[in-house]
Amino acid sequence: MLPKIRIVLVETSHPGNIGAVARAMKNMQFYELVLVSPKQFPSGDATARAAGADDVLAQATVCDTLQQAIADCHLVIGSSARQRTISWPQLTPRECARLLQNEPVSHRVALVFGRERSGLTNEELDLCHYWMHIPCNPGYSSLNLAAAVQIMVYELHLTRSNPAEMSQEPNLLATAMELESFYQHLQRTLEDIGFLHPRKAPSIMRRLRRLFGRVRLEKKEVDILRGILTAAQHSKGTNKPC
Ligand code: SAH
Repeated sequence: MLPKIRIVLVETSHPGNIGAVARAMKNMQFYELVLVSPKQFPSGDATARAAGADDVLAQATVCDTLQQAIADCHLVIGSSARQRTISWPQLTPRECARLLQNEPVSHRVALVFGRERSGLTNEELDLCHYWMHIPCNPGYSSLNLAAAVQIMVYELHLTRSNPAEMSQEPNLLATAMELESFYQHLQRTLEDIGFLHPRKAPSIMRRLRRLFGRVRLEKKEVDILRGILTAAQHSKGTNKPC
């Protein structure tokens, strides 16, 4: 059994691609589509390319930011055509499918796909626990958006006929929104106590996100860490409501 899987498309320019993604999803029995600020939606082109998957389009949710699209998710995986210079936990679609097979079925997982021209920004990739890259021609690595989604959902579909041993339901993991509030609190506290210089903040915060993302924090652990941060702010006399 797989967890609840959501496909998130960020600022798609061509409505036809949205339709083709809906088709790819329905072929593999996935139905939850979230669109972040699409250029044009609903659209006749999207419906035409969906070719019978218009029910997926009709149920699709539209929101303004990626943060909104993933707020309630326990695991966020960003898909990138480029190999990035900073190292981050990277998965192939097959490894990603294996990871999701072991995720509790009650969890919500977002698979995030970027813009046709420019992909996902570094800030958007920072919101993800893992990055997914489809291995291909290194000199020509950018797949069509719907083709990338198709490969990912196909690998997930295969796991349905080859179920893994379900792991025990672990303690409740923090959602993306809870982690985001924690990272903001962490940054503010590190500035308050004089550890973080604004010039260095982006790179240090990126490393800290990567560290905590690797651990997969539980809700209770986030509460403890935030308690520590609040105590540090108290001792500096800087605690403000977060
Ligand atoms: N020119 C963009 C690629 C955009 S393709 C860039 O260089 O980043 C649109 C989206 O499809 C990407 O943001 C990514 O989510 C997905 N995609 C395309 N090719 C991929 C690949 N080889 N591996 C993983 N995702 C890919």
